[in-house]
Amino acid sequence: RTIDIYRLLERIFEQFAFEFEERGIQGELRGESRILQGDSDRLTQVFVNLIGNALLHTSAGGKISVRVALWEPNVSTAVEKKIGGRKSRLAKGEEDYESLEDNELRPNKGKSLDWLQVTVNDTGEGIPPEELDHVFDRFYRVDQSRDRETGGTGLGLAIAKEFVQAHGGDIEVTSELARGTCFSVFLPVDLQAERRDISE
Ligand code: ATP
Ligand code: MG
Repeated sequence: RTIDIYRLLERIFEQFAFEFEERGIQGELRGESRILQGDSDRLTQVFVNLIGNALLHTSAGGKISVRVALWEPNVSTAVEKKIGGRKSRLAKGEEDYESLEDNELRPNKGKSLDWLQVTVNDTGEGIPPEELDHVFDRFYRVDQSRDRETGGTGLGLAIAKEFVQAHGGDIEVTSELARGTCFSVFLPVDLQAERRDISE
C-alpha cells in the first residue's frame, strides 16, 4: 500500500506531543512528503519504538529530531558510507541481500531504486560503543539496572529491524556516550512511482 512516510511521522509526533511536553524535551520533524509502498502499521510501530526509546534515554532540556530525506551517500557520515557500497549495489538491482528476494513486501522488484533515510536523533545518554552491535538483539537491554524503571522487554529494536528489512530496507545506529544517539532507517523508494502517486 501507498503511504506518505512524512505524514505518518507527523501523526506519531501528535501522539507523543504530551510526552515531549511533560519531559521537557524538544521535538522536531523535518523533511517533506515522501511516498513509498509499505505497511503503515508496521512502520508506525518502528518509529514509535525509536522515538519512544529516544524519549526514555534523553533528559529534560534535550532534543529529539527526526528527518526524512533522500539518502545521499556522498554527503553522509563515515558509517553511512561504509554501508553505502552495499546499498548502491542493491539500488542498481544487483541482488546481494539474501532476505530480499523472497520478500513479499519488497517493493519495486527489479526496478532501480533510491533510498529514503529517516533519522531519529537524540541528545540523550548515548549507547556505549561495545553495546552498539547488540541493541538489535532480542531481549537485549543496555545495563539492566539503568533501565529497570523503564521496564521494556528489549524486543522493540529487534522487531523494528525485522519490519524495516521486510520492506527491503535496513536500520543502522551510531552513538556517542553522553552526547546522543542516531538511528537511521533506510527504505527503498521508487521515485518514478512516487511522482505518479503524487500526481494522481
Ligand atoms: P521495548 O522496546 O521492548 O519496550 P526496550 O526499549 O528496552 O524495550 P529496545 O527498544 O529493543 O528495548 O532497545 C534496546 C536497548 O537499547 C534499550 O533497553 C536501551 O538500553 C538501548 N537504547 C535504545 N534506544 C536508545 C537511545 N535512543 N538512547 C540510549 N539507549 C538506547
Ligand atoms: Mg524500545
